[in-house]
This record gives sequence, structure tokens and C-alpha cells, in this order.
Amino acid sequence: MLRLDFGEGEILSKKSESTHIRTALILVTSLALLVFSTYHVLNYSVDQLVRKDAESQARSWANYLASSLIDIEQIAAGSAPSPASKTFIKNAKSIGDVFRFKLFNGQGRVRLVSDELDRVKTSNPNLARHNPLAARVLSSKQAFTAVKEGIPPERPLLYAETYVPIIKDGQTVAIVEVYVDQTANQQRVRSQFAVSAIALMVITILGFGIPATALYFRTRQKSAADERIHFLGHHDVMTSLINRANFTEKLSEKLSGSRQGDAYTAVHYINFDHFKKLNDLFGHHVGDEFLGIAANRLRAIVRDGDLVSRFGSDEFAVAQFGVESPEDAESFADRALMVLGQPTTASDHDITTTASIGIAIAPRDGKEAISLLKNADTALYKAKSDGRNRHRLFNPEMNQELEARRNLERAIRTAVENNGFDLYFQPLYDIKRSKLMGFEALLRLPDGENGFIPPDRFIPIAEEMGLILQIGEWVLMRACSVASDWPEHLTVAVNLSPEQFKGEGVFDAVSKALNASGLSPSRLELEITEGLLMEDSKAVMKQLEALKQLGTAIAMDDFGTGYSSLSYLWRFPFDKLKIDRSFMPSAGDADPNVVSILSTIVALGHSLNMQVTAEGVEYIDQALLLKKLGCDRVQGFLFGRPMPQGEVALLVLQDFTSTNQDAIGSQPLPKLEPVREVTAGDSVKVDSA
Ligand code: C2E
Ligand code: CA
Ligand code: CA
Repeated sequence: MLRLDFGEGEILSKKSESTHIRTALILVTSLALLVFSTYHVLNYSVDQLVRKDAESQARSWANYLASSLIDIEQIAAGSAPSPASKTFIKNAKSIGDVFRFKLFNGQGRVRLVSDELDRVKTSNPNLARHNPLAARVLSSKQAFTAVKEGIPPERPLLYAETYVPIIKDGQTVAIVEVYVDQTANQQRVRSQFAVSAIALMVITILGFGIPATALYFRTRQKSAADERIHFLGHHDVMTSLINRANFTEKLSEKLSGSRQGDAYTAVHYINFDHFKKLNDLFGHHVGDEFLGIAANRLRAIVRDGDLVSRFGSDEFAVAQFGVESPEDAESFADRALMVLGQPTTASDHDITTTASIGIAIAPRDGKEAISLLKNADTALYKAKSDGRNRHRLFNPEMNQELEARRNLERAIRTAVENNGFDLYFQPLYDIKRSKLMGFEALLRLPDGENGFIPPDRFIPIAEEMGLILQIGEWVLMRACSVASDWPEHLTVAVNLSPEQFKGEGVFDAVSKALNASGLSPSRLELEITEGLLMEDSKAVMKQLEALKQLGTAIAMDDFGTGYSSLSYLWRFPFDKLKIDRSFMPSAGDADPNVVSILSTIVALGHSLNMQVTAEGVEYIDQALLLKKLGCDRVQGFLFGRPMPQGEVALLVLQDFTSTNQDAIGSQPLPKLEPVREVTAGDSVKVDSA
């Protein structure tokens, strides 16, 4: 199966692909936002906790220092720290997380910095500028903590500075400022929180992400299904081409849309010739594969913007826009016939087939899609009936021909449904004994005006319509049933169409007719033509043998009309050979060539043990010649035209009387006048001599 994303399908899926991408983006962004905000809320909380912690740690350190330095007031007042205090300060600096501290006096001036123990600050001209925080603590008498980020190696990554006022008798006598390293603390809190943070994020993803993703995929699935339904509604699944409805709609849009000025629109209706045969021969899968190839070939030759469609079965259509002249459309059709006719292989079978194309041009042949298609179809029909493998431009007269064809099809269908056929019988004589030997059953389709539609015209159409099997069965039934009432020595000949041998049901149809009528198989002759043997099919041979086995006689009809007719004679042991009526020499001037051909055929037939019949005998001198050449049977207007069943009885009776009068020996031929005119009841055309 071919991929389903050609043409509009691709555009369609691109469109929905972009919608999917947008939805996915929204989803991912929301999720990222959620994760991001969760992270930041956590970070903020960690920060707050660390600050709180830092503050309380620094405060207790400051208090501890304040209470441990006995000479704190003295130091604040300007004295150098005692050796004990110095030792304490040195040790204090390396305990815990305190890495530095300062001491301010009651006016906020720095008196001592732990890093510079030996240099007690004596003055600071601008306290407020020097340390605004110390000044703030001085005035508020409240401890204060600032958490700061440092730059290593001087300072830790995170540390807290806490100012604690030392108050004596309501007076701030000193301020202790402690620097506490909070990096480790922050790390600890962070790692503790990280677990909760990850858990929270996982919960967020599970709680929001999974349902959202599931929803996203479900929506995606649904829209893919919708897209496919849409595609199937507008495309032919096998070839991915647009379907008939879609083609018609698009063509209509184009036709009613922009005015095309002088340019034409051409609609090409394309159909393969004898496509059914390809299917029958190789199977439907090969046929389907071939159609896929054909679709690609058409795609390859159309211009951008033109339409290619498969209407179903082996029917395709192309709409060409902006065509400059009808000749342009014709040259496209030529190209299409050329590419479609290129040999190809499908499932290892070599395939060469031809196509026919009907063309209708807008606005000349119609301004609307429907009328254009109808006319292109009519032109296609004309291309087919003109011999196929060609294109035809529509012209209005074609409609009349089509109308006639449609009427004929209708007449055939009605006759099949309502038992509307008739069967005529044409006598066959033994020329040597001038004796009636039997009749050939000939099918008649009444034309509704006291005449008949010639079988040469309606039988090929019935074959195309697939109705010949039913008709053939009816002919067999009726012919056998009528013949079963005749005297025992009379035979009936029935013509069989090659189509009847395709379904292998012909044996059953013959048996059924014989059984139902009680006619002896030896009284039934089956006439087949060369066409049946052309393919040299084993199945046909088997059926012919079975029929012969049954006891019926098999006759080769219309002998001499095919091109390699002689070879077909060896293929099957025919009982009879019927020389085609085209071999009958014109009255009066027998062409020596025709005479020698006739004598050769008679001799050939006899050498192969076949009885030889000459058809279309119209003149006495023809009959005399045939008798001289040793022909066995004769049939023709001279001896009797095809007649309805009711007239057969009379002829049989006449024959019976003449036989009993034993007049045959003295009378070389029936005393019949040549028949030149055609009467109602027989519409066979008689060529003028
Ligand atoms: P065919 O089998 O060759 O039948 C003989 C045709 O020659 C008949 O035409 C008959 O009317 C015509 N004919 C007989 N004698 C003369 C004559 O002296 N001069 C001329 N010019 N024609 C003569 P018809 O009945 O029109 O049938 C035409 C063909 O239609 C038949 O040719 C046969 O091929 C086919 N056909 C007729 N009935 C059936 C049928 O039941 N089944 C099938 N499959 N084909 C049939
Ligand atoms: Ca015949
Ligand atoms: Ca014939």
C-alpha cells in the first residue's frame, strides 16, 4: 500500500502538526513555569530559614562574647585588651563559624577588630558614614542582623553580621559586631530542602504533567483520526489521489473563481483499455499495483496546480488549468497516453497496456464541472469505440452516439430482465442430397418497431455489459427445447461467445439445457470462433473437450476470417468447419483465386475429418460450385432465411414431403429463388452484388 501523505494530505498533516507543536509548547512551558516557581519558592524559603538561623546564631555569639570579655567596657572606652581577653578573642575567632568580630564604643566608633587585635581604633571621623548599621543600633538599642554574600577567599559565600548593643544602666556602652559564616549552614538547609524540593517537583510533574501529557496525546490521537477520516473522505485510498467528489468540488471552485481570460480549462477523462483482462490474468493485487504506478505517472506529468484524481476502478481524471488552446490539451493527452502505455512490472509481471482519453474544454464544452465531466466521458466513450489507445476531443454529435448506445444498453437489459429476446432458426442443407439437416439458432432482439437490432451490434455490447452469460444460457435452453420437438434427424446449432468460456460455466449451461429439454447431445452443435482459441488457454481446451465428451458436436465458425486461422484447426479436433460467408464468390464471375481457396479449405477440412459447411449461399451458381467442390452442408438465403420457430414446422414438413416424393435425385438443388431483399423479421444486411 502506498503512503497516504501526498498532496493535500501532506498539507493537512502539516497544518495539524503545527497545532500539535503549539499545544506541546504550551504544555512544556507551563510545566517549566511550574517547576521554576516551585524551585524559587523553595529557594526563598531556604533563604529565609538561613537568615533566621544566622541571626540567632550570631546573636548568641555576640552575647557570649559580650559576657566573656570582662574588660569590654574598658576596651570600648579606649584601653587595649588585656592579655586574657586577647587570648580569648584569638580562640573565639577559631571556634565555630565566627570568623571576625568588632567592638564599637558607646558613640559607635570602632575600638577593636579581631583581625587587627593590636591596633585598637582610636578615632573615626565620620561614624555615620563609616558604619550606618552601628549607628542604627546605637539609636534603636536593638540588635540587628544583616545576611551578606561574600567573595572568597576573604569572605565566606554567605555570612551574617550581627550588631548587639551592650547596655549598662540604660546606656549603650558598647556594640559587638559578629561575623558568622553561614555557608555550611546554608548548604545543610539547602540539601535538606532539596529532598523536599525534588519530592515536590515529582508530585507536581505527576499531578500535573502526566494528566496533561496524557490529554495531549489523546488529543493528538483524536486529531490524527479526524485527519484520517477527512483524508479518506477526500482521497482514493489506493493511490492517495483526490477522489471524484473532491475533484469535482475543486474544479467547480476553479471554474467559478478567477476569470481566466483567454485560457481554457481542459478535463481529461482517462480509462485503461481492457483493464479487466489484466485483473483476470494476473489477479487484483497486480491490477492495484499497476494503478498505483499509473497514478504516479500522471502525477509526474501534470503542472503544479492541475488536478489528478482517481474516480474508481481504472478511471482517472486530470484537470488542466490555463490551457492556451484545445491543441495544447490534445498534446497533453498524447503525452499521457505515451507515459501510461510504457511497459512496466507489477509483482514480477510485465505489463503493457493502453489507455483511452476523452477531453472536454471549458468554456466551450461546458462551464460547470458536472457538464465538463459528462462531456469528457462522452468523448472517452468515442475514443473507445474508435478503437481505443487514443484520445478524442468532445463534440456535441458524440452525445447522439452515446444516446444510441445507452438506448441499446437499456434495450439489452430490459430484454434480459423481461425475457424479451427471440430465437430464429436458419436451415442447413445436405447439398448432395438436397436434404434438410438442421437449423442454426440465431438470436434476435426486437427493436420495438417490428424489426430487429442485428446481433452483430448488440452481442459485443452485451459481452461488455457482462450479460452474455445469462443470454447464452437462455439461447441454449430455448434452442434445445425447440429442437426437442423436431424430428429426430434434425440438429440445432448454437453460437457460443468466448465470454461464456471464461467463467467455466459453459459445460453446466449446456448440460442443463440438454437435461431440461431431453434433447440428445448428438443433436446439438456448438459453434465457436477463432477468437476463443487465440490465447491457447488450457482452461478453454478443457471445456471444449468436456463438451465433446458429452456428445455434442463442436464447429469452427466463420472460418477464414482470422489471420492465422489454419493453426487453430490443429489445436482441437473439431467436428465441423463453417466457411465464412465472405468467401462466397460473387454471382456470375467466380474469381479463380476464391475458387481455389474454397477447394483447399474443403479438402483441408475433409483431411482432418471435419464436415464442411458453406455459409451465406445466396445464388444458385454459388451452390452449384460448392456442390462441385465437395462441400457437405450449405446455409444461406438461397435455402432459407432465419425464421421464427413457427415457420420451422412448415419447412420441416415441406422437406419431409419432398423427401418422400423422392424427388431429390432428379432435382440437384432446392427450387428457391435468390433472396435479395431483407424483410421485417430479418434485419441482416445483404450486400449488393
Ligand atoms: P454467424 O454465426 O455467422 O451467423 C450467420 C449469420 O449470417 C446470421 O446473421 C445470418 O442471418 C447471416 N446469414 C445467413 N445466410 C446469409 C446469406 O445468405 N447472406 C448473408 N449476407 N447473410 C446470411 P445474424 O443472425 O445477424 O447473426 C450475426 C452473428 O451474430 C452470427 O454470425 C453470430 O456470430 C452472432 N450470433 C447470432 N446469434 C447468436 C447467439 O445466440 N449467441 C452468440 N454468441 N452469437 C450469436
Ligand atoms: Ca454461427
Ligand atoms: Ca458464421
